[in-house]
Amino acid sequence: MQVSVDRDRCCSSGMCVMNAPAVFDQDDRDSLVMLRQAVVQPEQFEDVRLAAELCPSGAITVTEDGAAGTGA
Ligand code: SF4
Repeated sequence: MQVSVDRDRCCSSGMCVMNAPAVFDQDDRDSLVMLRQAVVQPEQFEDVRLAAELCPSGAITVTEDGAAGTGA
């Protein structure tokens, strides 16, 4: 699984950081999302999928291995 974020869409809600703090962070300057890692480890899959589902701005894209990417 890979994950990417669109900082232009992010509204700084922090939901992703709450759900998957090992993967997502927020920029100290503008509170916009930052990735700690782009490649997600298997034990993080569930948390990252939930983060993408709950992102209020659809800024998180999850790409499952061997599958086309999906948005939130
Ligand atoms: S949940 Fe979505 S809108 Fe909120 S900080 Fe993360 S990427 Fe940005």
